[in-house]
Amino acid sequence: MLKNYVIGFPRVGEKRELKFAQESFWSGKSDFKELNKVASELKRRHWSYQVNSGIDIISSNDFSLYDNMLDMSILLNAIPLRFQHLSDEELYFAMARGNRESTAMEMTKWFNTNYHYISPELSLEDTYKLNAKKIIDEYKEAKELGLQTKINIIGPITFLGLSKRADGGDSFELYSKIIPVYKDLLNELSTLDGEIILQIDEPIFVQDLTPKILSLIKPTYDTLASISKNIKISIISYFEHSKEATKILVNTPIWAIGLDFVYGKENLESLNIINKSNKVLIAGVVDGRNIWKNDIQSTLELLNYISKTLNKKNILISSSCSLLHTPYSLKYEEKMDKEIKNWLSYGVEKLDEISLISKIFFTGIHSLTQEEENIFKQNKETCKNKKYSALIHNKDIQTRIKNITKLSRTGSYEERIKIQKKNLHYPNLATTTIGSFPQTPEVRKARKEFKNLEITYNQYEHEMRNYIDDCIKFQEDCGIDVLVHGEPERNDMVEYFAEQLSGFGFSQNGWVQSYGSRCVKPPFIYGDISRPKPMTLDWITYAQSKTNRIMKGMLTGPVTILNWSFVREDIHKAEVSKQIAIAISDEVNDLQNAGIKMIQVDEAAFKEGYPLRASKIKEYETWSIENFKLAVSSAYTETQIHTHMCYSDFNDIISTIEDMDADVISIETARSGNKLLKIFAKIGYKQEVGPGVYDIHSPRIPSVEEIVAQIKLLLDVLPKDQLWINPDCGLKTRKWSEVKFSLKNMVDAVKIIRNEL
Ligand code: GLN
Ligand code: ZN
Repeated sequence: MLKNYVIGFPRVGEKRELKFAQESFWSGKSDFKELNKVASELKRRHWSYQVNSGIDIISSNDFSLYDNMLDMSILLNAIPLRFQHLSDEELYFAMARGNRESTAMEMTKWFNTNYHYISPELSLEDTYKLNAKKIIDEYKEAKELGLQTKINIIGPITFLGLSKRADGGDSFELYSKIIPVYKDLLNELSTLDGEIILQIDEPIFVQDLTPKILSLIKPTYDTLASISKNIKISIISYFEHSKEATKILVNTPIWAIGLDFVYGKENLESLNIINKSNKVLIAGVVDGRNIWKNDIQSTLELLNYISKTLNKKNILISSSCSLLHTPYSLKYEEKMDKEIKNWLSYGVEKLDEISLISKIFFTGIHSLTQEEENIFKQNKETCKNKKYSALIHNKDIQTRIKNITKLSRTGSYEERIKIQKKNLHYPNLATTTIGSFPQTPEVRKARKEFKNLEITYNQYEHEMRNYIDDCIKFQEDCGIDVLVHGEPERNDMVEYFAEQLSGFGFSQNGWVQSYGSRCVKPPFIYGDISRPKPMTLDWITYAQSKTNRIMKGMLTGPVTILNWSFVREDIHKAEVSKQIAIAISDEVNDLQNAGIKMIQVDEAAFKEGYPLRASKIKEYETWSIENFKLAVSSAYTETQIHTHMCYSDFNDIISTIEDMDADVISIETARSGNKLLKIFAKIGYKQEVGPGVYDIHSPRIPSVEEIVAQIKLLLDVLPKDQLWINPDCGLKTRKWSEVKFSLKNMVDAVKIIRNEL
């Protein structure tokens, strides 16, 4: 009897083998054969992990040399014109990364995760046709190892829903051209074996769907599920509930429906109709995107609840989504506190959880071996003890939160800005930057050596101060009005703060794929958060002491720190973010008391935390705004608070941004043109704005004329005393040679405009 199922497994490898193989291939140090060899080893290893853990249904085609969505574009022959002449070997990575002649395809965040997929680019002229080589090869590769795999693909509705059309039209106009290729694919797969399980991911079903998209579900799956008796289709969604789609899917001839019961509790409302239709339920009960141990006892309770409606033989136990979003294995975490490590579960450990849960659920506790019984017992104890662990609870911070009275700044924006303008006398069209300056090899080296205790604090401080001195000198020479210290001491804008706050933990090897070869190692929040001592004060006050101009203090905000960490689940996220907010507000206070007049609190990841369902947005906005305001509540009227957000689609959240009540916001607009700015004028936006005047994501140096033209466009929309002039994000990833000229041109452009005014 089949008991369990895993939606997908990560692929970069527990030592990031794929990353290193990709990078070696890209730099010409190894050939394609070499890369494929590493890929095969990884696939084999990952399959064996799953099999050894006792997982019944494992995947092929969850592997990818870059991205599964890109693989789908190739499978359907959805190749943008500019790449069509390339050979098979060049094509794939050229689409992902661009080449000398052509820019890469766009990369976008996969729903509300930090994984980025390559957005398909479609055109009405496209001719789609099946290219099933990769998918069939991978299936056969497993088969040769004696493994029967299900085959994973991304469904047509999600594929089209996440596609962009070059001419801006509706991708669904290509539905009738795409579906025949899916049909061809199923026909082809049906010849592979007597019985094939085909997993079709349709995560778009967890969003609010338009009637038009909803109307496509039934015809699509009536068609696809009738192609061959050999193919059993499971439709999988994750990250939220997908009630509306489930209602339709139960009336199609598919075999199974996979639902996320971790992030989509509302899916419980679908049990009845699933039961009536006699479909198999793939129950996503082990969190596929967090790092905490499963509370097996409560998962069993959830499953027992499900089995009140559904016959057990129609249930499979699964991860809530692909394990792609978790790190590999705890076996490399040698330095971690034992108690904390015992709370965690990475990908491989999650496989064991799924296996154990399904064994208990289907065959009862008496069927467990002695070892399994011990693991279950320990799991119960760990979950119980964790609740009371001294590592988690900090009475002081809890009391402080209970007694907060000042929730936001004193006075209105209108009052504050008058006083600030008078005190700070910065000019109209004041120039500034977003915080970081290029991270040179020397800076990285000094940070690393200090971390490894190879140099003393004094040596390290000396290096950093040198860099800050250079940064300040450059900005003064260049003629920038409001300076920054350049952030040389920060490897990452979240990690830097996390490392100095208590309540945060760090892994040695908790890598998760972010895109292509890029992996991130997010910190995790396990306990109450507090700030043992100031975090940025020394650097910023040092920097301020070296210049007569205004030095902007630089902090990361409570929503961004939260959104870029793995977060504890025993209290609401809003509460965790509030604890961070308090720590930040103390830092704001220390900075202003030390003479810092402007402080920027970055909320780069504010938009990322948005819920997938419109009905849940209000709640998120409410607590995230509250926490941002709390973080800056300590600022005096005279202290000017800046914030920065780096994304371009702010049209729908412009009022939310205004409600954050920062005095100045810098925001990315350079890449998206002036269109978006009109919204500021339309809603009568009152706070000061620095809409980035050039794109820092490209090595290109913008000319003076270009920036002049851009500023003129800004002045069409907003008055000069409301505008700041800055690049659209931090300069960390750029080279000094680029930054020097770009900023010089920016300042020159402002001079020209000021003269004209
Ligand atoms: N202050 C940060 C920097 O300049 C902001 C980074 C970001 O917005 N992603 O690097
Ligand atoms: Zn940014």
